[in-house]
Amino acid sequence: MKKSCKKCSKELPDGRNDKLCEECRAKRKKSIRKVFIGLAIGGATITAAAVLATLTGKNKNDCDDYVNNFDDDDDYENDDDNLETINVWDAADIYQSSGFDEDYTFGYSHDELIDALD
Ligand SMILES: [Zn+2]
Repeated sequence: MKKSCKKCSKELPDGRNDKLCEECRAKRKKSIRKVFIGLAIGGATITAAAVLATLTGKNKNDCDDYVNNFDDDDDYENDDDNLETINVWDAADIYQSSGFDEDYTFGYSHDELIDALD
């Protein structure tokens, strides 16, 4: 039984254990190469992205610093807010109801808060 090329139906030589004739095989190789070139270009893009990521690794640290700074800023802002929005009497009230917890001094000293309660 003669085999024929799957693509162009050209009769394949005896003993050829292939589904494609040499011509179609060559064409397929070419297209495979195209795919490889495509992959290479895609790979290059990925490589470029990786290089970029490496180059911007410093930026990542900057970003971490930024995040850390942001946290610091946040705390700082909270302290600011407390100082600005909570007067010593309000602070003293909260301080007292917190059981004189040092976390609730709102920037005031214990004595200041106790004085404010009097
Ligand atoms: Zn063929």
